[in-house]
Amino acid sequence: MAWDRLGDKARQRLQDQLVREQVRAVASGSAYWKKRFADIGRPAASVTSVDKLASVPAVGERDVSPTGDAAAMASLVLHGGEKHFALHTHGPTLRRALRKKATRSRDYPRIVARETRATSYGWTGLGFRYPVASTRGDLDVLSRTGARMWSVIGATADDALLAAVPPGSVEYDALHYAALGAGAPALFPGIDPAEVATAALLAPPTVLAVAAAAATQVLTGLNEAGVPLKQLRTLLLVGAPTDDERAAARRGLADVGAAGDAVVLGVHVPAGGRLAWAECRPSAGGSGLHTYPDHDLVQVVDPESGDPVSGEPSTAAGAGGELVLSQLGLRGSAVLRWRTGDLAAAIDTSPCPACQRKVPRLVGVRRGALVVATDAGLPLDLRAVAGALAGRADLADWRVVVGGRARDGRQQVVVHLAPNGDAGAATVGAAADIRAAAGMLPSQLVLAENGELGRLPGEALTRRMLLRR
Ligand SMILES: [Zn+2]
Repeated sequence: MAWDRLGDKARQRLQDQLVREQVRAVASGSAYWKKRFADIGRPAASVTSVDKLASVPAVGERDVSPTGDAAAMASLVLHGGEKHFALHTHGPTLRRALRKKATRSRDYPRIVARETRATSYGWTGLGFRYPVASTRGDLDVLSRTGARMWSVIGATADDALLAAVPPGSVEYDALHYAALGAGAPALFPGIDPAEVATAALLAPPTVLAVAAAAATQVLTGLNEAGVPLKQLRTLLLVGAPTDDERAAARRGLADVGAAGDAVVLGVHVPAGGRLAWAECRPSAGGSGLHTYPDHDLVQVVDPESGDPVSGEPSTAAGAGGELVLSQLGLRGSAVLRWRTGDLAAAIDTSPCPACQRKVPRLVGVRRGALVVATDAGLPLDLRAVAGALAGRADLADWRVVVGGRARDGRQQVVVHLAPNGDAGAATVGAAADIRAAAGMLPSQLVLAENGELGRLPGEALTRRMLLRR
């Protein structure tokens, strides 16, 4: 059955099986997960389904590396040898390998290494940058899912990709392997405008991939360099684009004289992930990011508490929250119940109304919304701030307000507290816990009456976290 045609029952059966395999591999191969499963008293063998996995507490980069040290993220990498391979490898690959072993072929150790040895690293991260590892087998998955992405965006082997994305990033790798998998020509000049223009003059792109925030600037630069853009029919905005970024990109396409049927589509690799999800061409970007159900298990948690969102336990379908990713069938860095820092309005499991693919789609994604830059220019993890405030007996309620300061537009994070009882003790306690959990203090702590908190202006990022523009 094709990856994008599985009915609900078949998808659940497949994902249950892949979850069992993945959890076994992860719990025995990764230092972090070995300890984690022991700490929470959940033997890997007890996680037998998607629903059971949903009750495993979600974790993110700060949980694996509280100090933001990239080296600590190596504990996510699976280490396995021949035994690991025999226990956790899929049937056909394993059978082929065992035939090689029986004939004492030199291919046997090669096959084992291919599935177990991390050989390739891409950069990712929200609060800090860290590498995620891929095995040779994982790169095959990148290439296969990349070819699918190519078809989701309505591109063919005749399309030519120009990707202006940072070399070494997971986005770069995903697009690189997508072009390889699709057999399409592609150039990766990096993000220097002069280099991008030179590459575009060499091979005028039909597909242009660029960071969502930089699209207009790149289009203008190409136009000014004299790059013919009338064949450009797909603009991929890397990182789930905001409505403003989409609108600006559409205007930019019109301004540079792109093809009449040119579309703007979002493509996104969540922090910690490696596979690129895309919006489908028939939807012109309106039906959400299409995931790969045989490699991605997408769920949501409450961004304030990290608890599962009530609803259908398998995906909390229809519900919104922080996007939590479990990667299935990838054996480099193990991403299980991973808090991506992205907010999603909903996970839609109904067939896509535009392309009819039956794959879970992520609707209304706000990339990295839960990790913000403060006025000191440092990243502050709002999940850690919320975690330090949620459920405190000395607080009646609280709000976190993120936004540009009126005076100079610098980003600041203001925490409003309504204490129960002693205001001084509650403020000091909350500040100390925020510092311990988030590694730094917010820009301001403000005491408020309980009733005032509900009237604070701002757009709700979550119930208690507000965005002020
Ligand atoms: Zn679609």
